[in-house]
Amino acid sequence: MKRRPFVAGNWKMHGSLEMTAELATGVAEGAGRWTQIDVAICPPYPYLTGALDAVNGRIAVGAQDVSEQAEQGAYTGEVNGNMLRDIGCSHVIVGHSERRAYYGENNEIVARKTEAALAAGLTPLVCIGETLEQRESGKMEAVLSAQLDAVIEVIGVAALENAVLAYEPVWAIGTGKTASPQQAQEVHAFLRQRIAGHDAIIAAALRILYGGSVKPDNAAELFSCGDVDGGLIGGAALDANGFAAICDAAQAKASA
Ligand code: PEP
Repeated sequence: MKRRPFVAGNWKMHGSLEMTAELATGVAEGAGRWTQIDVAICPPYPYLTGALDAVNGRIAVGAQDVSEQAEQGAYTGEVNGNMLRDIGCSHVIVGHSERRAYYGENNEIVARKTEAALAAGLTPLVCIGETLEQRESGKMEAVLSAQLDAVIEVIGVAALENAVLAYEPVWAIGTGKTASPQQAQEVHAFLRQRIAGHDAIIAAALRILYGGSVKPDNAAELFSCGDVDGGLIGGAALDANGFAAICDAAQAKASA
């Protein structure tokens, strides 16, 4: 099945008003070329409205996190999905490995955040990935399965129709160590097969992004893998030209 590639930029905790205007405008300038892919940028919360203004609908804007609380209430510091929708966001990253590692997000919380994002009409970019220690000790498939199954248990496999999965090996994030195309393909195929065990149609249509040190010079090779449907980009998303080059690689896959 032909899936529409997706490239999302995770700015992490980087930004300023000035940088947002420049970077978001710079990226959106390429939008006219990206006719067969989806592109989103995910700045920090305070810069979402600035990014939305700058891109003016040419590409999507998403947040990097969302509260698992669907309703407004006494949850100091939290931002819920309805608020993100209200300002014009369409996507949100959930379960990024940095949230799991530094902010105690376990599989259950990630599943509830995914559910809350969907309930608000946002497309969650659900991140899963193993550490190097888990990979080297032969636990990779078990870890990824547990992360994936926790989400499916809460939202139901059919709801994956409105989600995007991102395989982000922790050892490849921000380290410059990219999974080889073969490693990425193997894991993506494993994940798709696991989902197919629940629902083959959902599995075939689900976009699975690769994330972990994707750069302009390795994007085309990674995206050439059959089960790699684009990328979640960290460091390289902070440079408009570099990020645009990665989007161009996804567009080339789509138009091949
Ligand atoms: C990320 O933050 O999701 C990521 C993949 O980072 P990087 O591209 O810098 O490895």
